[in-house]
Amino acid sequence: MTDALQHRIEGMRDDLITLTQDLIRIPTLNPPGENYVAICDLLKQRLSAKGFETTLIRAEGAPGDCEKYPRWNIVARYEGTKPGPCVHFNGHTDVVEVGAGWTYDPFAATLDGDRIYGRGACDMKGGLAAAIIAAEAFIQEHPDFAGAIEISGTADEESGGYGGVAHLAQEGWFDPARVQHVIIPEPLGKDRICLGHRGGWWAEIETKGEIAHGSMPFLGDCAIRHMGAVLEQFETTLYPAMAARRTEMPVIPDGARASTMNINAIHGGQPEEPEDSTALPAHCVPDSCRITIDRRFLAEEPIDQVEGEIRDILDGLKANRPKFDYELRELNRVLPSMTDEDAPVVSTVKAAIAETLGQDPSFVASPGSYDQKHIDRIGKLKNCIAYGPGVLELAHKPDEWIGVTDMIDSAKVMGRTLEKLLLS
Ligand SMILES: [Zn+2]
Repeated sequence: MTDALQHRIEGMRDDLITLTQDLIRIPTLNPPGENYVAICDLLKQRLSAKGFETTLIRAEGAPGDCEKYPRWNIVARYEGTKPGPCVHFNGHTDVVEVGAGWTYDPFAATLDGDRIYGRGACDMKGGLAAAIIAAEAFIQEHPDFAGAIEISGTADEESGGYGGVAHLAQEGWFDPARVQHVIIPEPLGKDRICLGHRGGWWAEIETKGEIAHGSMPFLGDCAIRHMGAVLEQFETTLYPAMAARRTEMPVIPDGARASTMNINAIHGGQPEEPEDSTALPAHCVPDSCRITIDRRFLAEEPIDQVEGEIRDILDGLKANRPKFDYELRELNRVLPSMTDEDAPVVSTVKAAIAETLGQDPSFVASPGSYDQKHIDRIGKLKNCIAYGPGVLELAHKPDEWIGVTDMIDSAKVMGRTLEKLLLS
């Protein structure tokens, strides 16, 4: 271990600021998935000039991929001079919509004091820039290292990662035979290690009815009233049952240590008129009502149980409520992912944080999922964490920012992690 690397990283402060600004200034909005080729080109130019071998990979056929919005990804690899493990830093390049309430230009990447403002500053272009600086500084300081360093910039994390990390994992880029340690610099905070995330199950439930004149509803069957019965069952049985479950996973914030379900949307009957419409409603009994549910579940809950308890409620209504009929359509499923606390990447980053920042890190897990799921489930690579600078609560908000000092500190932790893993 050397302090030289820490000093070298401190000396790259201006370079880190410029790199972060360059990344933010490419508006990689997803949806629709814009400018992936531009950001991959920027990363390719930067990293190939530093001696990395770069490969651009398009996720052809992934959801959203088309000629107008191709899903481009980049993997850059630097080989050491002797055999050893490969440490891979993965950052998603996409950002969510801007939304209202900004006082800074979201794509100007304004430096104000210690903060750089912009969409994606914290989630997660700042983290990606910190990893790049850490890797470059390490290679300059220790050109004779053992093993390899990889940096990937990937598409579509904000929409599930299918055009990004999932595709790379399917193509074998995260095969444990070629990559041994993965760090995803998502904005969990420079003194926290994120071990994984809860699962998610998204589904649409439709209740069926029968159309009739609204003045004689007894001649039809109201699908919205049937949905009301579903929602009542959720309130009286499902929500209390979910709230009573607590996970052993260190999920933050505390409310997410229970099982949760959001109802995203409800639609039924006559479609909504535009706001400026003066039309009066037609008088019809609705023959269909649909809700979309977003069920987040714990490592202790098997997905079959998550789906089964909702099906049981619907089947119970079908058995007991006259004319009740339904359809349940799964939209997407993500299984929970948790890396062991004693996995090598965890203990190494833990020690690096203690040595660099002078404090023991806390272990956390994420309430929502991120690309670790694909590295775990498709890539079969378990030695993966999220560790990076930034304040999680700023993600997706107006006036999102990243602290320059936080980026430097976490780059030092990543640099020390590389020293521990790649110097023999
Ligand atoms: Zn993110």
